[in-house]
Amino acid sequence: MNKLNHILIVGGGTAGWMTANLLAKEWQGKVGNITVLESSQIGTIGVGEGTTPFMQDFFKKLDIEESEWMPACNATYKTGIRFPGWSTKTGYTSYFHPFYSEIDTDAAMRFFSDVKNRHAGSRINVNPQNYFITSRLAEAGKAPFHVKDNMLNSEYVYHFDAALMGQFLRKKAIQRGVTHVDDVMLEAQTSANGNISRILCKDTGWLAADFFIDCSGLRGLLIQQALGQKQKSFSDRLINDAAVALPTTIVEQQPLPSFTDSIAAEFGWMWRIPLQNRMGNGYVFSSACTTHEAAEKELRQYVNAQELAVEAKHISWTPGRLHNHWFKNCVAIGLSQGFLEPLEAPMLNVTQHSIEMFMYYFQAGNASNKYQSRFNTEVNNLIDGTVDYIQAHYLLNSREDSIYWRFCRENQNQSDALKEIISSWKRTGNIDGALRAHAHTQPYFKTSWLSLLAGLGTFPQDIIEPENSEELPLSYKNKVLSATDYVDHRTILAEHENSLFRDASELERKVCNV
Ligand code: AMP
Repeated sequence: MNKLNHILIVGGGTAGWMTANLLAKEWQGKVGNITVLESSQIGTIGVGEGTTPFMQDFFKKLDIEESEWMPACNATYKTGIRFPGWSTKTGYTSYFHPFYSEIDTDAAMRFFSDVKNRHAGSRINVNPQNYFITSRLAEAGKAPFHVKDNMLNSEYVYHFDAALMGQFLRKKAIQRGVTHVDDVMLEAQTSANGNISRILCKDTGWLAADFFIDCSGLRGLLIQQALGQKQKSFSDRLINDAAVALPTTIVEQQPLPSFTDSIAAEFGWMWRIPLQNRMGNGYVFSSACTTHEAAEKELRQYVNAQELAVEAKHISWTPGRLHNHWFKNCVAIGLSQGFLEPLEAPMLNVTQHSIEMFMYYFQAGNASNKYQSRFNTEVNNLIDGTVDYIQAHYLLNSREDSIYWRFCRENQNQSDALKEIISSWKRTGNIDGALRAHAHTQPYFKTSWLSLLAGLGTFPQDIIEPENSEELPLSYKNKVLSATDYVDHRTILAEHENSLFRDASELERKVCNV
């Protein structure tokens, strides 16, 4: 790759600092300088607290251990997502979306075949929460690590405090040589060929660069405001456009949950995300159905925080994405690419993939924009497939308590891929062909789709099923899997803290020659 003199990232936050770290690590020697410009006066939105399985890779690439970053970000393990209240069908009033891993191979086979039989009319409860080890770990407040045999560790992701993550990654990026400028960008200047040439900052003056990365959040300072790139709206398919967030304290004596709760409510759904020091709560809703004030009141009642002095944080968005995420000498990463809604925590996944794909194509094209359109198509496919998966949660709900849920169910605005997946499911229970036909736009695998479709209890025949089926024995390669053999969630987090202290005192001993 031809050497670049200067890459300027506008905006810190998780997206900006993730990008800076990966560039500084992987393009060492290929870029003269990397600068992140952010404004401490403007701050970040910072509500993204859930991740998807790819986040483990991100930290591995940066050689950062969990025992280092997790305590710094009050992070916890997430073994899956629970969905109470989305379905009213007996046996399915709450279901669990697992993170599939190799130890669930036998479980998945059994799940697939039971789903097929249930679809054909057998009287079996196929709620995915009965099948996978991850839901048992979640219920028991366990971390995904087996006490004796690490071959039996389960797949997992994380919850973290996004503001602390930004600060942690900033420190790391600066250690790797990234320049940090705390200033406010006022305007961007473009040259005759349409590229951005430099940007004007309030105190620092003009900053020039060869390439610019827009991590300025929903405002899209560079990609939208300076380069005029437009968004494709998904408002006709995803009707939530607002959220209110409110943290509460966590009770130390109780087991620390290791899952996200996504609880259906009258005009949307509420999240409960356990961090080490607090519970993150939020209500995602449609502003066409309720107001911010009413949503905040409902959330406060739900989490029993009516009197709480903590100020709630309100955000609004228009669900959508850019048509071109990379245009001229600028790529958008993070919220500047667009935002769908918080269900299934999709945006960090899009952020991470976008950084990695951008780096791949940029290098392949030797710093030209030869692969720009391929990059844009891939990012758009990823986002469009995510929209399908999110919309399916709403389309297949069976609630009758408000116009909101009826509207979601009857919404005919769907992509062809989604129509085909759902009609295959309704017709035959077999979605393999539909997923194969649309593989290029479907980032979610069969286990996730079937967990959703079966989890909502949407079968052609409403058979009376046993509400609480017997707990299925779980095994992998003839080894019994039981939640009791997994590490307690709080214990492992405390160990991270201890190992940090251990490392620190060892380092001190070495440095001081004690
Ligand atoms: P978020 O809203 O969480 O995606 O983060 C947006 C980031 O962009 C934050 O780091 C902000 O400080 C930064 N930002 C937004 N507007 C400006 C601006 N005019 N000048 C500098 N930084 C900005």
